[in-house]
Amino acid sequence: MNKKIKWIQSIHFKIPMLFIFLLLVSLQIIGAYFIRQLETNLINNFDNQMSLTVRLLENTLNPILDEEEQASMESSIQNVLRDYIGGDFLEIQVIDEHGYILGTNDQTRQSIVGLKSTDRDVQQTLLLENSRKYQYLDESRNIRVLKNVSPIFSEDHAGETIGAIMMESNIETVYNQIQGIVTIFLNASFFAIGITIVLAVIISRGLTKPISEMRSQTMNIAQGDYSGKVRIYGNDELGELAETINDLSLKVKDAQETTEAERQRLDSVLKHMSEGVLATDRRGKVIIINTRALDLLGMSQEEAVGKSIMKVLRLGSKFSFRQLLETTDDLILNYEDKESKETNILQGKFSIIQRETGFISGLVCVLSDITEQEKVEQERRNFVSNVSHELRTPLTSIKSYVESLQEGAWKDESIAPNFLQVISTETNRMTRMIGDLLNLSRMDQGRMQLELEYVSMNALFSHILDRFDMMLQAEEYRDKNYKIIRDFTQRTLWVDIDQDKMTQVIDNILNNALKYSPDGGAITCRLMETHNSVVISITDEGLGIPRKDLQHVFERFYRVDKARARSMGGTGLGLAISKEVLTLHGGRIWATSVENKGSTFFISLPYESFEEEEWA
Ligand code: ADP
Repeated sequence: MNKKIKWIQSIHFKIPMLFIFLLLVSLQIIGAYFIRQLETNLINNFDNQMSLTVRLLENTLNPILDEEEQASMESSIQNVLRDYIGGDFLEIQVIDEHGYILGTNDQTRQSIVGLKSTDRDVQQTLLLENSRKYQYLDESRNIRVLKNVSPIFSEDHAGETIGAIMMESNIETVYNQIQGIVTIFLNASFFAIGITIVLAVIISRGLTKPISEMRSQTMNIAQGDYSGKVRIYGNDELGELAETINDLSLKVKDAQETTEAERQRLDSVLKHMSEGVLATDRRGKVIIINTRALDLLGMSQEEAVGKSIMKVLRLGSKFSFRQLLETTDDLILNYEDKESKETNILQGKFSIIQRETGFISGLVCVLSDITEQEKVEQERRNFVSNVSHELRTPLTSIKSYVESLQEGAWKDESIAPNFLQVISTETNRMTRMIGDLLNLSRMDQGRMQLELEYVSMNALFSHILDRFDMMLQAEEYRDKNYKIIRDFTQRTLWVDIDQDKMTQVIDNILNNALKYSPDGGAITCRLMETHNSVVISITDEGLGIPRKDLQHVFERFYRVDKARARSMGGTGLGLAISKEVLTLHGGRIWATSVENKGSTFFISLPYESFEEEEWA
């Protein structure tokens, strides 16, 4: 772009050259015409003058040749010719009709007077009685000579030739004169060329300076610098051009600013989108990718931009780019996160960027993280299958017992009551399960309202434990020797809770602790506070929960040992409900466990202690 113009191609050179060329052509034409004309005129003039002189001489000599005697004639002629010495006249001879020289104006050649002329022109003129006139180059004198030979006719005897005049004149003077004029003309031409060069340089400078200023300004504009302005030198086309460039600069600046603002807006839209977006050029190279997409793909900007979309989305083995352009379906992409080793499930929607002409200029891909959605979907499927399974198991056993009874077992007093007992237990379990399911469903739909009361956690927990102590006195548990140990903080902890629901949660944990405790096991119940929560922990000395199952026990229908848990009458929903209840309270439930040593379940509830201090 910034190519240097060769000097010979520049306007600086071309304009003076053009001027000189034009001047030379006009000088050539003027010179040729003018000098030729001048030459013709001067020579004609000289010629006429000479012819006039010859005629004058003829008139003067005519009476002398006609009348005078030979002796007086020569001196008369000599007298006449004496007036024609010098000047342009080289030689004038007067010759009689027989060819004898009667006189010459050349004083040094008086000796030829009386001799017969040897001049062929003279002889011819006398013979043919006509005049002749021509130019020739006299080599001995190295000059051009105009020679005039004219017959003299008698006035008395008309038509009779009585002599001739031979005149040679120096026409070189005319040529010298022309030469002088040509020299003046040439000098003037050179002078004119000199002035022209100077003027042309000034004029071309006047042209090139604004042009080069405009060029540098347009180059600045191209590089994004709009601050400069072209100087306007005059009110001519160049001035108009300069004005247009200044105008253009403003317009480009405006357009640039608009584009920049547009780009920033797009950038910020892309940046804050919850979906990942990436765009490619027509060859599939990624040109734009937003932060969300980078997060989803676990890449950095540098790793993605400029790379093929097939590589970025790791599709290379499944598709070609062409197939990707042709697909209209969404793609489901599975990625394993390098750090967490978790599989992310992404949904990719593709659309082609197409011009009106049909030319495909790129591809846009919108990525959404559907991992959670898929998980929920999977959970829902599992849940339905779990519910069906959980309900079918008791139903199957009820059915088989009922069938046995129908087949006659009802008559057997030793079996029938047992069978009926099993049917009753199973029915109760199903009823409990359906009740739990309804509760969960209510919570899922947000229809479960908490009836919050400001209660002392110490009192509530004590009350529940008292109830359990009573229960352990009952026949069913007496020989199991379970112990409940209380370890409560001294402070009374007041919390805002739904008493019934929280009681249900604690009941469930205590029930589990009893269920999974060996005979004689101790169950330690603690009530503690941290700076912003009330924490209850219930520790048993049971089987414990394997580490891998620990985080799953709060899921619906999850049981570490299905057969045993079911035989204990559990529904597999107790902890799931507890978790939902605590979430509703803004609290948390979690468990720690050492296999074969026991488990501890924790409940924490939000708590603000300042009120008690205020009371105090
Ligand atoms: P279930 O009605 O089966 O007890 P829960 O939701 O209350 O259902 O408990 C889920 C599972 O967690 C139980 O089936 C059991 O495997 C395990 N679990 C709960 N509490 C304990 C505990 N204290 N010790 C060992 N395992 C437990």
